[in-house]
Amino acid sequence: MTASAAIGGIRRNDKTGAIGLFSSDRYPPYNRPPLSKKLWIDERLEDIWCRSDFASLGVTEHLTTSITHLDPNTHSVEDDKGGTWTYGKLLLATGGSPRRLSGQDPGVVYFRNLDDYLKVYQATKNDAHVVIVGAGFIGSELAAVLSMRGVRVTMVFPETHLLASRFPRDLTKYLEQVYQQHGVQLLAGHKVTDVERRGGQSVLTFGDGTSLTGDLVVAGIGLKPNTELADKAGIEIGDGILVNAQLQTSVGDIFAAGDVASFRLPHLSHRLRLEHEDNAMVQGRMAGENMAGAGKSYLHLPFFYSDLYTMGYEAVGTIDSQLEVYADWTSFGEEGVLYYLNNRQVVGVVNWNVWDSIPAARQLITEGLTVDHPKELKGRIGSP
Ligand SMILES: Cc1cc2nc3c(=O)[nH]c(=O)nc-3n(C[C@H](O)[C@H](O)[C@H](O)COP(=O)(O)OP(=O)(O)OC[C@H]3O[C@@H](n4cnc5c(N)ncnc54)[C@H](O)[C@@H]3O)c2cc1C
Repeated sequence: MTASAAIGGIRRNDKTGAIGLFSSDRYPPYNRPPLSKKLWIDERLEDIWCRSDFASLGVTEHLTTSITHLDPNTHSVEDDKGGTWTYGKLLLATGGSPRRLSGQDPGVVYFRNLDDYLKVYQATKNDAHVVIVGAGFIGSELAAVLSMRGVRVTMVFPETHLLASRFPRDLTKYLEQVYQQHGVQLLAGHKVTDVERRGGQSVLTFGDGTSLTGDLVVAGIGLKPNTELADKAGIEIGDGILVNAQLQTSVGDIFAAGDVASFRLPHLSHRLRLEHEDNAMVQGRMAGENMAGAGKSYLHLPFFYSDLYTMGYEAVGTIDSQLEVYADWTSFGEEGVLYYLNNRQVVGVVNWNVWDSIPAARQLITEGLTVDHPKELKGRIGSP
């Protein structure tokens, strides 16, 4: 998604330069969010492609092709098919790889790409009992859409409650009820220590010695940024590839953006690395523009979103249930705004079934709004 956005950015400033797009994936760039949402409901596969005009933009696509070596001195990269390619400017938009449970994990689908979606889709056509490991974005969204389609789903996660790291307890309790009403079995407080494949089924063993059998195990337990290529090339990395405000790495003609990039924003003292669509699109586009000489600074605080059954939310900033949370509900669980406060300063906002209000939320955060009492936030966003 980042690479696709970058191509649009490059072509804003440079109409003719040669562009090569290399991807290990076998498909052209596609939107990943529908894989755990709309593709299961009403979106068609043919609508997920990021863009269809690569050829007319003069882009040469090298799919199913991994870059294995990067040499900043000779301005060249090598691919796994024996090709060597030179560049003037290079963008690393290598995203991340799913974290794994343990060892080989036979039969576990680490849900990240279109082929993973197709595998799960195929399995659920045959009445499979699906065990979802992890209750982050991907686990909670998939459990919702699969159960809406009548699939038998068990969710397994080490936290004490569903989505406990993000939302206050009254909301997580409500969400647990909604999942259970849709037939999802929730196994909170369960850490997987082993996965085995026996007689066509997967057997998960937990830390307390108990086990669970399912037809298909799908895991969504986080992402590791793909930094190896940059690291071996001597580019500075931390939690991701470090970039400056213009999205350049420590090697000036190499840029990084999207899930793999660790960047700074003026209102924050720490770096951020975000795994969200808005970041991929806006940062990708700007990296492309800057590769073609725009020299712009990235100042955008990205938002993210998620859909769970009939509920949806958009959020911006730090969404951490350890913070003080002020909930301004119009109707509990159905519509409202959650404000996350650090020392009475608004650092994060969740708009729960409240739409078109991200700019207002972002402004509170970047301006560093501080309140004497959280109740002062009532009605700031969403409510008339
Ligand atoms: C199922 C799912 C649902 C999501 N839902 C949401 C959502 O609701 N809201 C939201 O804000 N965000 C969501 N996201 C996150 C969003 O999709 C990502 O932030 C976005 O895809 C990041 O784009 P990227 O291009 O940086 O990385 P990626 O999409 O991971 O792309 C990286 C690409 O680089 C390729 N690659 C890696 N290494 C090499 C190499 N050495 N050589 C060649 N190619 C290489 C990979 O094959 C891949 O094609 C979701 C993600 C997933 C997986």
